[in-house]
Amino acid sequence: MKQFQITYNNDETFIKKLEEINEWCSNNPSYTTVFRIYSQDMNLDHIRHICDILDDRMPDALYLGCTANANILDGALADAEIILTCTVFEYESTKAEILQFPFLEENVKEDVSQLKEFCIANPWVNSVEMHATIMDMSMKEFCDEMTTLPKDIQVFGGGAFNPNMDDETAAVFSKGNGFLEHGIVFLLLGGSDFHAYSTFIAGWKPLKRRFKITKADREILYELDGKPAFDVYQRFLNIEKNDKFFSNTLEFPLFLEHGDVDILRCPLAVNDDDSLVMSSDVQEDAIVRLAYGDPATILSSIRRDGQNIANFQPEVIQTFSCAARRAFWGDENISDETVVFSSIAPTAGFYTHGEFLRKDGDMLNFNVTLVIAAMREGDPKSNERVNIDDTQFDNPDKIPIIWRFVSFIEASTAELEEMNKRLALTSITDGLTRLYNRAEIERKIRSTLNKRTQNGTDNDISLIMLDLDNFKKVNDIYGHKEGDNVIKGLSDVLRKTANDVDSHFLGRWGGEEFMVLLSNSNAEEAAILAEKIRSTFASISYETAGCQTVSIGVTQARDDEDADTLYNRVDKALYTAKANGKNQVVKI
Ligand code: GH3
Ligand code: MG
Ligand code: MG
Repeated sequence: MKQFQITYNNDETFIKKLEEINEWCSNNPSYTTVFRIYSQDMNLDHIRHICDILDDRMPDALYLGCTANANILDGALADAEIILTCTVFEYESTKAEILQFPFLEENVKEDVSQLKEFCIANPWVNSVEMHATIMDMSMKEFCDEMTTLPKDIQVFGGGAFNPNMDDETAAVFSKGNGFLEHGIVFLLLGGSDFHAYSTFIAGWKPLKRRFKITKADREILYELDGKPAFDVYQRFLNIEKNDKFFSNTLEFPLFLEHGDVDILRCPLAVNDDDSLVMSSDVQEDAIVRLAYGDPATILSSIRRDGQNIANFQPEVIQTFSCAARRAFWGDENISDETVVFSSIAPTAGFYTHGEFLRKDGDMLNFNVTLVIAAMREGDPKSNERVNIDDTQFDNPDKIPIIWRFVSFIEASTAELEEMNKRLALTSITDGLTRLYNRAEIERKIRSTLNKRTQNGTDNDISLIMLDLDNFKKVNDIYGHKEGDNVIKGLSDVLRKTANDVDSHFLGRWGGEEFMVLLSNSNAEEAAILAEKIRSTFASISYETAGCQTVSIGVTQARDDEDADTLYNRVDKALYTAKANGKNQVVKI
């Protein structure tokens, strides 16, 4: 496979280049020839003119292409508005065919079924490269249909786009099929010597703040955390509801987990009711986060996947990258993430707003992703490892100030979250013992009783109440500090011994009084635990206070019993333990 990369400047240099290609073909083994044409020039007559020259000068060559946000040539953002690549297949067994169809939601099923029929009738097909006009279309049905293609066929590609991110106009075209403003074109490649390896690179990282999808229907995202979905973009990113909505949100897609693949979904538009039209379906109850480009993550995934691609030893690399990546890096830096591939093989492609990749049989529609298709004819040429040249990643001065801010926000959010967690914990725990405080253990007792009634379950609920014996004396004789030590000592005993019981909650009820809630133990089991607590505690000798004891009451909740009568009974049990001489367990 030989690839020529061409910038179209004028007819004269273009025709000269075609002559060079013809010359090369006559001196080398060459069979099928395919041109790919990507154009930022939205004047279709200009592209038609180029197609006419191809029809005239290279009548046997196939060609296909689309309008694009920008072009990639020699692995870098191209200066030229129109670029072409010419791939010459050097193996007779390699085949290429083009199929083009109108592409509207009502055609999706039929388009894919024609593609499928073709693939089944032509088992040589092992790869499908695609371009489609996708603006404002849900890709859900298309992706579902494409998933039914014979499972070994790889699919990769990108949506036709426009240099103006907020302009919906786009077109696809191919030899013999003309131009379509709502169309899809497939380039089918295969044969026993044609090999492709396709993958994707994301590198967008979710911000920490999570939102739950509380209302969604297919690709319409109505609510996040019970509020209109647009509110998140307005409140957190100050994005307005205007004709720049798409280009503004594209850099901040929603991050959601889809099986083991993290998917980024872009809002395409905002409706009057502040719901969002997403690029594909979203599910209620899913957790989403706003995502942003993280340079370190991007570069490390390019290093990793770049090496995998290098190991495949491709002869040609096709890239389908998202215009959001271009907006994120800026035109001066964007080529950094693609030029690395041209150290492996000639690399070209274009910037789109929807990337497609079939992964493990599933057809995925991405945003903000770089989809890469590496291609080769025959076996790898070398037995030696090919290393990517990623030295340009070692230049650390290219970190724009905005990324420093992102880092600041992430660090602050992490600190705030940690602080919130600690605050939440402090509000329900007791400072001295770290057990639940009175209010929280009471809440736990009530909710455990309520849950059993509501769910109609018959789990045994028991309560253990403890009170240190003669504790006033400990304070009086050994001081308050030693008193605190003994209180802490008992709480440690509670923690250790209760560990053997599956569902338990430990609380400090008051000064030297404690409560243990067992939500799955009867009175006998509770009494066994209580006895263990009593004897363990009695065996410990404190620094100055020596051995101390505790009295314990135990009782089991009756059916439909409320908390107050339960407290009365356990208190009575404890009182009896005290009255009978302390340092004992009484069960009622
Ligand atoms: P009894 O065996 O009948 O329970 O006798 P007692 O001395 O333990 O009786 P009482 O409940 O009247 O005394 C409890 C004492 O616990 C009173 C108070 O000074 C002490 N106390 C309460 N909270 C704390 C605390 O946080 N630290 C310390 N060191 N002492 C506490
Ligand atoms: Mg007391
Ligand atoms: Mg006491």
